[in-house]
Amino acid sequence: MLTVLQDPASATQWCREQRELNKTIGFVPTMGALHEGHLSLVRCAIDENDVTCASIFVNPLQFNEADDYSNYPRAIDLDYRLLDEIGCDMVFGGTNRDMFPEAESIEEVTLLDPGRFATGLEGEFRPGHLEGVCTVVERLFKFTGDCRAYFGLKDYQQTLVVRDLAKNLGYPEIRTCKTVRDEHGLALSSRNALLSKSELALATNISKALYSAKALWDSGCRECDQLRMAMRDNLPVPLQVDYADVRNPVNWQANSPVGTISHAIALIAARVGEVRLIDNLQLDSRL
Ligand code: AMP
Repeated sequence: MLTVLQDPASATQWCREQRELNKTIGFVPTMGALHEGHLSLVRCAIDENDVTCASIFVNPLQFNEADDYSNYPRAIDLDYRLLDEIGCDMVFGGTNRDMFPEAESIEEVTLLDPGRFATGLEGEFRPGHLEGVCTVVERLFKFTGDCRAYFGLKDYQQTLVVRDLAKNLGYPEIRTCKTVRDEHGLALSSRNALLSKSELALATNISKALYSAKALWDSGCRECDQLRMAMRDNLPVPLQVDYADVRNPVNWQANSPVGTISHAIALIAARVGEVRLIDNLQLDSRL
């Protein structure tokens, strides 16, 4: 039976009690409007821990566009039902005031420096986004305390930033889970609910472009320009592409790499109509 807690202080207490019972805790932070991607993280947490909790909080600090925040899908009752059905033990949320009690308004919250992994890509195209993620995730980690926290590889750069944050805090252990896709290859995202049928069809080109870079990689190509070109060639004009790029995940750098690359992940951010989507694919299966 799912325990629903409306404020972080109650969640802290619940987690403390679980630890006193010597139970390991899996924690899945989310912004709600849950889909199979989120649920895969919860299932993984259930498998690896004695008890599992999730958070649902649409974090205003990580939206760099006001419309994106106000249009973000919200489905709290359905979320509770889905979490209950798969066997999550506790879910918590809170108001902006609960999350950032020191600030009179959201604009007054002091943002954390998200560190060296936040430069380039999302850091460049969504100014303030990773700062906002880091600021809320640090609070969530402090609320839940030591545990295992689960993040999706779909938000690849976010996983790097969050790992760095956890390393500096000394907890929690970060676990990452692979991207869940629909039958056409489109990475599941809460924002997909905002797409029309034709926009959904257009959006599938994002994963097609990633897989074309993967095919080129598998054929032996290590040239960054060619890998980038393979992606661009598969992104039709109505998609407004922020980036279609490669990075070395072992040796992350802010700038587009030039020449050849020995380990690679391909990453794309593109706007379909009003909706901005991101996706990525590890090209190097040895990693
Ligand atoms: P969000 O609610 O978008 O903040 O996402 C919460 C968590 O779910 C993050 O760790 C995301 O990376 C993860 N997530 C979102 N979409 C997917 C997906 N399609 N597959 C796997 N994980 C996902």
